[in-house]
Amino acid sequence: MPETPRQWYDRVVRAIEDDGHRETDLPSWTSWPWTGELTVKALDEPVETEPDRRGVGGVDCHSCATGADPATGGAVWWDELFFVVPARSSSLPFAMFLMPRRHCDLATMTPEEARRQGELLTALEQTATATMSVPRIQVARWGDGGEHLHWWVYARPTGMLQLRGTFLSHWDDLLPPRPLDDVAADARVWAADLVTRVGGTAAS
Ligand SMILES: [Zn+2]
Repeated sequence: MPETPRQWYDRVVRAIEDDGHRETDLPSWTSWPWTGELTVKALDEPVETEPDRRGVGGVDCHSCATGADPATGGAVWWDELFFVVPARSSSLPFAMFLMPRRHCDLATMTPEEARRQGELLTALEQTATATMSVPRIQVARWGDGGEHLHWWVYARPTGMLQLRGTFLSHWDDLLPPRPLDDVAADARVWAADLVTRVGGTAAS
């Protein structure tokens, strides 16, 4: 039988009490954003029932509103199934969300949506590297607080080796955001390129 969350928690807490946390060399990684000593928090106990995610069932879901009318909802690219909106507060040269127009999460996509999602993730990497000075995209499903699926798609500037890998999102939280006019101007460039690859509509 797989461990229950409670069994997992009890075992991990006991192991920490006995042997402490694992030894890591994280502060020696060139991508580690911080200096000085950090202290690991104590683990909170698992809750019995998780709170609903925002927009559960599509009720009061901001992403559904954008999906229903992407042209006025801030999207810079869309087709019948998906839309893309730029991240409004990012330091990075390429940062956006890819979302389905219909209210769904990864487990509740139709096969058609799943196929299109795969095409779009590939095309976004092609578009990003063709139009921006970025070496590759990173894709994450960080948004655990909202039910409407939203992929974070973002990229560091080429040559900024310190921003490679795991800590890119933390660096982005720490660095000053780009001016929104610059974000919008770049979005027009890559959205036009994306249309040439996968069709759809770019915001005018
Ligand atoms: Zn929704």
